[in-house]
Amino acid sequence: MAKHIFVTGGVVSSLGKGLTCASVGMLLERRGLRVRLQKFDPYLNVDPGTMSPYQHGEVYVLDDGAETDLDLGHYERYTNAPLTRACNFTTGQIYLSVINKERAGTYYEGKTVQVIPHITDEIKAAVRSLATDDVDVVITEIGGTVGDIEGLPFLEAIRQFALDAGRENCVYIHLTLVPYLKAAAELKTKPTQHSVGALRQIGIQPDVLICRTEHPISPEDKDKIALFCNIERKAVIEERDKQFSIYEVPLSLMNNGLDEILVKRLNLKVGPLQMDDWRDLLDRVLHPEREVTIAVVGKYIKHRDAYKSVYEALDHAGIAHHSRVIIKRVEAEELGHEGADSFLNGVDGILVPGGFGMRGIEGKIEAIRFARTRGIPFFGICLGMQCATIEFARSVLGYTDANSTEFDSGTQHPVISLLDEQRGVRQRGASMRLGSCPCELLPGSHAVKAYGHSSINERHRHRYEFNNDYREAFESHGFQISGTSPDGALVEIIEIPAHPWFLAVQFHPEFKSKPIKAHPLFRDFVGAAIRRKHPAAH
Ligand code: GLN
Repeated sequence: MAKHIFVTGGVVSSLGKGLTCASVGMLLERRGLRVRLQKFDPYLNVDPGTMSPYQHGEVYVLDDGAETDLDLGHYERYTNAPLTRACNFTTGQIYLSVINKERAGTYYEGKTVQVIPHITDEIKAAVRSLATDDVDVVITEIGGTVGDIEGLPFLEAIRQFALDAGRENCVYIHLTLVPYLKAAAELKTKPTQHSVGALRQIGIQPDVLICRTEHPISPEDKDKIALFCNIERKAVIEERDKQFSIYEVPLSLMNNGLDEILVKRLNLKVGPLQMDDWRDLLDRVLHPEREVTIAVVGKYIKHRDAYKSVYEALDHAGIAHHSRVIIKRVEAEELGHEGADSFLNGVDGILVPGGFGMRGIEGKIEAIRFARTRGIPFFGICLGMQCATIEFARSVLGYTDANSTEFDSGTQHPVISLLDEQRGVRQRGASMRLGSCPCELLPGSHAVKAYGHSSINERHRHRYEFNNDYREAFESHGFQISGTSPDGALVEIIEIPAHPWFLAVQFHPEFKSKPIKAHPLFRDFVGAAIRRKHPAAH
């Protein structure tokens, strides 16, 4: 029978709960356990797919096409646990499912449908759906902060869960903040006490406290936290801000004994912890041999997390080359107004990520022209590929009004347009081309060189496609289509062979990059940027 770890957060948001859950998953997996990870988000949207990146940050897409919270990206980067749409539930989704059953008529046998037990049962069923026979530990993260009204049904559900599964089979981890008050020159434990107090009022006594702090927590303060929060002294774990790299998190949790506490508490049979490759990774991160600057030209640059996986994948690519990637974040709209020179002079590579809507489009196209005409390595992702297509059509094919019908429905040269199947779609939620699709690569291309084989699968999230009416015109002018759907109908990768490295993809490779295994396209893009900056190094 699978064991359960529930992770809640207190005091403030943005404590890095997702990264902590991913790190716990990693430590347990590396002790030989089969883990699954899952997140509950207390908001009412059915999924984050319809939310603005400014609200929510990146939408992380899974193989099965689920549009999920970006914390699932941490889970996938840190563990090998398979992720499906059963790994992310929102309040909206839970209620939708309960209401659908109620509307169907017979499911609730005429009863009054209520938060307890019907919503909480639905939440518990979602947890249980991951606890299959082939799983040792399910880690469930509750989004939001203890004390939020909207989080209550989830907390109530995980409280009840231990009644069914057995308290000895469940661990509650609470992540809190121990702030430093400058005026008093000391750490304050009171917010943590209050937060645990709020949890206990709901009926949850945490077993482990992970205390985020800027400064070391003294033994006296740890004693105090343990006493007031009713927690074993050794289960008060300090998690100090990492000075250099987020990759330190799993190692510091390990050094503070977290995996050992969990293993003992849940009575798990495990092997020794193997972290040598992770230490090696951290060493590469902390001691890079060279640096390279990549400009990311996007629309949501001001939001730290809007291109989360893209930034992470660039880091991974740097690690693969023993190099540090300095990311220069460029607001496309500003570049459009002020010209590419002032933003892009001196960068070693240019990346245009995915996006939606008109704002910033001309700036992205300008940046791509800069990369193409000056031989600067370029990597386009999704909208980035569509913009690269528009730029080529305008500059090389001479179709000066070329555009995507997303931005100009009346253009004479719709080089990017909707597929027939997308034309009738009115509902916005979950209606794009979503999830993993196969793609065949062209022999001799940069793409096939990167992957090392010709059949790949990558994740999609878009409505618009390269318009096949223009294929010949493009191909006869030095624009190579190096990846298509197996039937050849959909253009998935484009390249310009005469350029040192100009490649753009309709899919989202950033979702499949890992710290220890950089995505091949990111790796080769950063490799090309390094070659440009340090020709002697290769
Ligand atoms: N807006 C474009 C489309 O829908 C690109 C989407 C994206 O970059 N994810 O096709």
